[in-house]
Amino acid sequence: MQCNIKEAGGADAMSIELQELFQKNREWADNTEAREPGFFTRLLNQQSPQYLWIGCADSRVPANDLVGLLPGELFVHRNVANLLVHSDLNALSVIQYAVDALQVSHIIVVGHSNCGGVRAAMLNTRAGLVDNWLRHVQDVRDAHEGFLAGLHESLQVNALVELNVLEQARNVCRTTVVRDAWVRGQSVVVHGWVYGLHNGLLEDLKITATSADQVGLAYDTALALVKQRYRQQHAALTSQPAPVTQHGALSDH
Ligand SMILES: [Zn+2]
Repeated sequence: MQCNIKEAGGADAMSIELQELFQKNREWADNTEAREPGFFTRLLNQQSPQYLWIGCADSRVPANDLVGLLPGELFVHRNVANLLVHSDLNALSVIQYAVDALQVSHIIVVGHSNCGGVRAAMLNTRAGLVDNWLRHVQDVRDAHEGFLAGLHESLQVNALVELNVLEQARNVCRTTVVRDAWVRGQSVVVHGWVYGLHNGLLEDLKITATSADQVGLAYDTALALVKQRYRQQHAALTSQPAPVTQHGALSDH
C-alpha cells in the first residue's frame, strides 16, 4: 500500500515537471508568433534549410540555439559522439534526404570538447550496449595511437574529439549520396567543426571538401593542423615537445 502511495506521488511530481515543458512550449510558440506573425503557417508548406548538422546527442550542444537558427533553417541528425557509420541507415537516410530532397549546401560534422562518449572510448570505460557504438571512436583512437600517447593526459580526450570529427567528416564524403551529388555537379560542402563547452564557441577544423578529389588533401591538411595545435599545447603544459612518430606528422593515420 505504502508503495502505491509513493508511486502515485512520483507520478504526480513527474506530471508537474512535464507540465512545465508544455507551459514553456506555449510561451515559446506565443513569443515566436508575436515576433514573426505567420511564422508557423509559413513553415507548414515547406522547409528549406541550407545546412545539415551532424552532432552529438549531448544536451549541452543544442544545434539550432548555438548557431542562432530558427526552425526550418537547420536539418539535424544527432547521435552519441557524432558518428557517421557507413552502415547506419538512420544517418545515411538523413543525409540522402538532406542532399537529394532538401538540396542543402553544407553538411557539418560537429564534435564538442569533453564529449562523454569520446572520453569513454578513450579510457575504455564500460557503459553497456553503447560500448559497441563507441568502438568506432576507439578505431579512430587506435589509428592515432602514437600521436595520442605522446600527449599530456589532460589533452587526449579533446584531441580524440577532433580526430573523430575529421574521420566522420571524411566518412560523410565517402557516402554514395555525397559522391553521387558531386558527380552530377551539385554543390555540397562538407565541414568539420568542434564546439567548446567551456566558452560556447565553434571552431572550424578546416576539413572542407567540395569534391571527391579534394577529400584526401583536406583530411591530411586538417589532421596536420590538429596535431600541430595539440603538440603545441602539450609543449606549453610540459615544456617538452611531444614526440613525433618515426615517419613524421601524418604517419599514424
Ligand atoms: Zn558528446
